[in-house]
Amino acid sequence: MGARKRSSIDTSASSESQMTFSRFLQLFPDNDACLDYLKAKFFPDGSECPKCEKVTKFHRVKHRSAYACQYCRHQVYPTAGTIFHKTTTSLQLWFWAIFLLSSTRCGISAKQLEREIGVSYPTAHRMFKQIRSLLGDDDEGPLRGQVEVDETLYGGKPRAKHRAAWAGMDRSQRRQAASRFAANKTTVFGMIERGGRVRARVVDNRTRDVLQEQMVTHILPESMIYTDEWSAYRTVGEKFAGHKRVRHKAHVYVDGDASTNLIEGFFGLLKNGIRGVYHSVSTTYLQDYLNEYAFRFNRRDGREPLFWAILDRVQKRPPGLAGS
Ligand SMILES: [Zn+2]
Repeated sequence: MGARKRSSIDTSASSESQMTFSRFLQLFPDNDACLDYLKAKFFPDGSECPKCEKVTKFHRVKHRSAYACQYCRHQVYPTAGTIFHKTTTSLQLWFWAIFLLSSTRCGISAKQLEREIGVSYPTAHRMFKQIRSLLGDDDEGPLRGQVEVDETLYGGKPRAKHRAAWAGMDRSQRRQAASRFAANKTTVFGMIERGGRVRARVVDNRTRDVLQEQMVTHILPESMIYTDEWSAYRTVGEKFAGHKRVRHKAHVYVDGDASTNLIEGFFGLLKNGIRGVYHSVSTTYLQDYLNEYAFRFNRRDGREPLFWAILDRVQKRPPGLAGS
């Protein structure tokens, strides 16, 4: 009986384009349904028992969050090694938190989660931290094609008034003023494929070595790179198939197909989102937020509903790396 119900969850995962709250409650009415989902994911019928190595089915063990091999009774735990491992918060609340995170357009704060599902603020904060830890992009392969890159300071780039003040200084004064300005801010580096994916990283600074190392790590060498005139990008052409620069200083924002409008647009969304939902984000967590925004942005066509995309990322991590 349970198996039939689980398989219906699986088929809906691929066919369901909308994930409404009533659909959520229908699929995950209680903890057992959530546990069954994870069991079907990690120990599906017809998988091999880790103990007796027979092709088997695992049946639920009463009053435990475990399932037992039908031949040798070896017990497996679907939540072990996942972000739900050893949690005292109910599994259904976790799934609900994922639902809320995925059903809002710009995200949801831990404060809102606290109110919505009735857990304490520290618990809500911890849950989101764990869920966000699933949203990294490292396994998705390097960017390719036409790739725009740009860097921004979290807390603002130098504005016209700063540049005007710096213009009256000599070279070394100007350098000092610029580094004072940047000292309290965090540099975010963004890379975006035209018509494709985005990736954003918190980096130490906006020097050539740091930015180009990011590019070499995240972008295939046969790509065409678009940047602004920042000097750190001067030698980019040596590492990639081509390099076009936008001359912002001359107020030329689009020079043929040389523009960085897409990545600037992403930075705009990011900053508005953080301001609107989270008010501010400590530097410690900024990379997690960047990952969340990139994850949303990369699924903006809605072909893969965010809820299932996040659940899909729940994995059993090696001991030691499991969520704390
Ligand atoms: Zn067995």
